[in-house]
Amino acid sequence: MRKIGLIGGMSWESTAIYYRLINEEVRRRVGGLHSAKLLLWSFDFAEIAERQHADDWAGATDMMVEAARTLEQAGAEALVICTNTMHRMADDIQARVSVPLIHIADATAEAMKASGVSRPLLLATRFTMEQDFYRDRLADGHGIVATVPDEAGREIVHRIIYEELVRGVVKPESKAAYLQEVERLRSAPEGRDVDGLIMGCTEITMLIGRDDFDIPVFDTTAIHATAAVDFALA
Ligand code: GLU
Repeated sequence: MRKIGLIGGMSWESTAIYYRLINEEVRRRVGGLHSAKLLLWSFDFAEIAERQHADDWAGATDMMVEAARTLEQAGAEALVICTNTMHRMADDIQARVSVPLIHIADATAEAMKASGVSRPLLLATRFTMEQDFYRDRLADGHGIVATVPDEAGREIVHRIIYEELVRGVVKPESKAAYLQEVERLRSAPEGRDVDGLIMGCTEITMLIGRDDFDIPVFDTTAIHATAAVDFALA
């Protein structure tokens, strides 16, 4: 089994989910007493969120590269960044390490292609919804065109992530707000051809899931965790 280096703590709420899912999947596939060989770098999320909101992406990249190189030196044979947003600097990180980085958008795109989905709605942080890095990766690498909510919708989705989910707060009214946003977008002209939903923030799985929708749902946390296990056991 190959060792995976997790760059986590963004937030630890979702890193804990990765940890559980990766180990459960190794147990399911290998059986017995087997569990995953993991190295974890866990950030103090306040230090990351501060740089994100100050638009200090260079500072955040330095922190991420330090984490990646430390995990590589410690023996990680692949890296998993346990957040969608911090894939913004995935190429910079990949350029500074020699082990592969298992990209969350690539893994999610492969799952969508396998389901025949090409026009998904993307729910994520503002950074992931508004900057180019994620939607471009889906489009250029995989021919998948993601739609995002309008400004008011993006504000709601982002606020619930940072004020609630990364703090471990899960409210029924916030779930209702997410469902309402998806409904609102799908009934607008620009949402008519939406054929799937990307849960494009690794904490969203705490709030909503497959059973809440009548279109295919792609949980990036679960998909990414499975991709990590595929690599570990290949
Ligand atoms: N975990 C989240 C994501 O998948 C948001 C927290 C962060 O900014 O890393 O984007």
